[in-house]
This record gives sequence, C-alpha cells and structure tokens, in this order.
Amino acid sequence: MSNDDFVVRLVNVSKRYYISESVYVDALINVNLSIHRGEVVIIMGPSGSGKSTLLNIIGMLDRPTNGRVYLDGVDVTDMSEGELAKFRLFKVGFLFQQYNLIQNLTALENVMMPMIMSGLYDRSMAEAKARYLLELVRLTPYATYFPNQLSGGQQQMVALARALALNPSFIIMDEPTGALDPVSASRLLALINVLNRAIGVTMIIATHNPDVAQVGSRVLNIRGGRIYESGVVERINIGGVNVKDMVKAYVEGLKIDLLARKSSRLADDVHRIEQEISRLEEITND
Ligand code: ADP
Ligand code: MG
Repeated sequence: MSNDDFVVRLVNVSKRYYISESVYVDALINVNLSIHRGEVVIIMGPSGSGKSTLLNIIGMLDRPTNGRVYLDGVDVTDMSEGELAKFRLFKVGFLFQQYNLIQNLTALENVMMPMIMSGLYDRSMAEAKARYLLELVRLTPYATYFPNQLSGGQQQMVALARALALNPSFIIMDEPTGALDPVSASRLLALINVLNRAIGVTMIIATHNPDVAQVGSRVLNIRGGRIYESGVVERINIGGVNVKDMVKAYVEGLKIDLLARKSSRLADDVHRIEQEISRLEEITND
C-alpha cells in the first residue's frame, strides 16, 4: 500500500523533551501509526501518557525528534514553517478542550475566520458557508452571539463548525469533551458520529473518557509514550438527530466552497469536492 492510501502515517516517531541539558522526558517512543480516510481513531490514555504530543505532531504543531510524518501522502517532516502553516490551514481541523474561539468575534465570524485566511473566499462566500456550518451544528439562532454569551457546549459546536470550514483531510480533537457537562458532551459525540458515518469526515480523538471511545471505529491505547494495542469498539447508534438535514446543510456549504475554488486560481480540489457533493446528494435524496 502506498502512502497515498493513508490520511496520516507516522513511521518510528519519537519525541524527547529536554527539561535541562541532561534531564529529558521521552513523550513518544517509536510510534508507528497509519490512519485511513473515513476512520475515527480514539487515542486512549491517562494524563501524561503522550496523547497531546502525538496529536500535536500529527497536526504539525510540533515536530518529532526522530521518525517521519506523512499527511495525505506528503512527507511533512522537514517542511519549512511557512509551508507547514499553509498545509495545516488547508488540511487539518483542530478542536481543543478549551474551544480557543476569538473572543471579540461573533460565532459566525469565528467560523468565517479560516475561510478568510485561506484567501479562497471573499467575505460574502465565507459568510454564506459559515451560516450552513452553523446550521449543521444547530446554532443558527446564535450566529451573532459572542463566545462569552454561549455555553461551553455551544462554544465547542462553534469550534467544530470552524474546524470544518475548509473541508480538512482530518480533524484532530484533544479531549473535546473534557470541559463539557454530560448533556453537551453527548450532543457533541452524536454530532461526531453523524459527521463520520453520514458525511465521512476522518477524526483523531484523544481522550481519557471511555464514553468518547464509543464514537470510534478504532481505539489505540497509549502508555508512557508507546502505543500498545488497538481494538475495535461497539459503536453507538445515530439516534435522535436529523441526519438528512445535517447532511443537506453540509452539502450547501460544499457548493459554496466549489464556487470559491472555481473563482480562485487554487482550483485543484474542484473534482474531489464535486464527487463528494454528488455522493452526499445521493444519500439525502433517497
Ligand atoms: P497527555 O496529553 O496524554 O496528558 P502529553 O503529551 O501532554 O500527555 O505529555 C506527555 C509527557 O511529555 C508528559 O510527561 C509531559 O510532562 C511531557 N511534556 C509534554 N510537553 C512538554 C514540554 N513542552 N516540555 C517538557 N515536557 C513536556
Ligand atoms: Mg493532553
């Protein structure tokens, strides 16, 4: 199998943090990991086991001490900071425990942010697509609210809509339910389930919460920087959510993305997005 069949591939990745010249922590030790398109991979482990270090390396927020990192078949290990920043913006969506929304922007403007930064979208296109993404996460009535006017659960939904803004290859989630109450947490998990199973979004989720593992298609255990075993889990059903409406909102967002790409010179993804739209329209039409 070539590298292109994997969204993420880590080969012998190690990460050593130096506390002082002679004192260090081996946060990751010889990690080999391949993630296929369409998977939801859960990284389970206690605090300090290396989950965040692993996600940061997969998301190119940090570099390994040893080993190679391939994303979408491209070796990104030695990319310059500038190249990495661009690759990261287009390829990776991020969701953190603490939401990381921009406080002086509304929910809608937070979701628009990556689209504006990409240079692919003009303001009106970014706004139109952001509205569909807020509809997808069921936050349309809160579009003009600022983060501090929203509950934790709502802020995390805005962050998820933002993570989806540029149709990333995969979304990284570091303890996404860590700061949420149980009801908000189960709403987020239901949405993750729909995004993956109906829409096909690839996600990599670090958690120490066994409930979160129920949305995964594969669970990896991490201890002391080593990945030990993988297992398949029984997945929860998609119940109580209107999957069709959510997929429809997502497709409308993709159509705007298609317009944006066609009118820009960065039109390389047009074919892939057209195919995705027709595949999803088949689901919503029957
Ligand atoms: P987890 O996310 O599972 O709690 P981390 O990846 O944050 O684990 O940390 C793994 C290990 O690496 C821990 O021992 C932690 O103290 C250490 N570590 C993480 N980041 C740094 C850093 N920037 N400098 C030094 N040590 C670090
Ligand atoms: Mg962590």
